[in-house]
Amino acid sequence: MKGQTIVTCSQCGGNKVKSSAIGLFQFCMSVGILFCITIIGIPFGIVFIISAFIVRKSKARLKFRCIECKHDFKITEPTYNDYIKAIS
Ligand SMILES: [Zn+2]
Repeated sequence: MKGQTIVTCSQCGGNKVKSSAIGLFQFCMSVGILFCITIIGIPFGIVFIISAFIVRKSKARLKFRCIECKHDFKITEPTYNDYIKAIS
């Protein structure tokens, strides 16, 4: 991960934070794409890809965890949008 400075831990000030929803989104997308490689897998693949987008839209994406001190905290919607721009 690049050294983003948008979302920092409110406890230790570190910038090594992650959103579990982003990890879940990437996981569902990869599994979905893998399923779509085979004809039989396509319906399952579509389900995973749709779930991925639901996860990304849900409020769960605003929950972050500091990797350094394991502190859980929430960020606001505009902050999240800036964060996504910063890491992509
Ligand atoms: Zn921390």
